[in-house]
Amino acid sequence: METILEVKNVSKKYQSKENEVLALENINFRVKKGEFIAIIGPSGCGKSTLLSIISGLEKKTSGEIYIENQKVEGGTSQIGYMLQKDCLLDWRNVWSNTLFGLEVKGKVTKEDKEYVEKLLKKYNLYEFKNKYPSELSGGMRQRVALIRTLATKPKILLLDEAFSALDYQTRIMVTNDIYNILRKENITTIMVTHDISEAISMSDRVLVLSKRPGTVKDIHKIDFEIENRTPINCRESPKFSKYFNTLWKELGVDE
Ligand code: ADP
Repeated sequence: METILEVKNVSKKYQSKENEVLALENINFRVKKGEFIAIIGPSGCGKSTLLSIISGLEKKTSGEIYIENQKVEGGTSQIGYMLQKDCLLDWRNVWSNTLFGLEVKGKVTKEDKEYVEKLLKKYNLYEFKNKYPSELSGGMRQRVALIRTLATKPKILLLDEAFSALDYQTRIMVTNDIYNILRKENITTIMVTHDISEAISMSDRVLVLSKRPGTVKDIHKIDFEIENRTPINCRESPKFSKYFNTLWKELGVDE
C-alpha cells in the first residue's frame, strides 16, 4: 500500500508572554492509503495538537507534513476533520446539513448532490433527509456529520475524540457504524482517543505518545485476523485483552 501521509520531525512549541510549552517533539510516522491509525497517550501529551497540525489549523514549529509526497503548508482541503461535537446546524435539515461542508468550499455541483444522495441511501439516512438534527438520535447525528465530511471527498479523515460525548451503549453502536462506512469507502483515518478499547477495536495500528512533550513511544500493529472485521467482533476476540494489557501497561509507565 502506498504512503498517503508522512509526518516528519514535527515539533510544536506554544509560546505565550509568560512561558513556553513544548507540546510535541520530533514526531515521525507514516500512514498508508486506507489505513486506520489511532493515537493514544496521557492527557496533555499533544494528541489534539498533532491532529490540528496535520489539518493545517495549527502551525508546527519545525518539521514537515507530506500528503501524497507533496509538502503541505497551512490549511488543505484534502483533510476532513470531525470533533467531539457533531456541529450540525439545528436550523438546517439532514439534506441541507450534509451539503454544508461543500457549500463552505464553494459551488455545489450536480455530481456532489448525487454523491451525497448515494451516501445517505447507502447508510440508511435518506428517508430522514427532511428531518432536523433535534429529531435524530446521537448515532444518526454522527452519521450525518460523517457524510457531511465525506461529501467533500477528503483524502484523510481526522477524528478527535469524535465519540466521547456519547453514552457507552450508543458509542459502541456508533463506532461500529462509522467504522463500517469508513472501511466501505476506503477512507484513510487518524483518530485521537483516550479510550484504549476504542483504539484497539477500530484501528490497524495504535500510535502511543509519551507524556509531554509528546514523542512517539511505540507503534503497535493490531491484527485480529477476523474476516469481516468490525469493532464489536474485535471486542469479543481473545486477542483483545492481550492488546489491551500491552497498551495499558505502556500508558501506565508514564503516570
Ligand atoms: P491532548 O490532546 O493530548 O490532551 P493537547 O494537544 O490539547 O493535548 O495539548 C498539549 C499541551 O499543549 C498541553 O500541555 C496544553 O496545555 C498545551 N496547549 C495546547 N494548546 C495550547 C495553546 N493554544 N496555547 C498554549 N498551550 C497550549
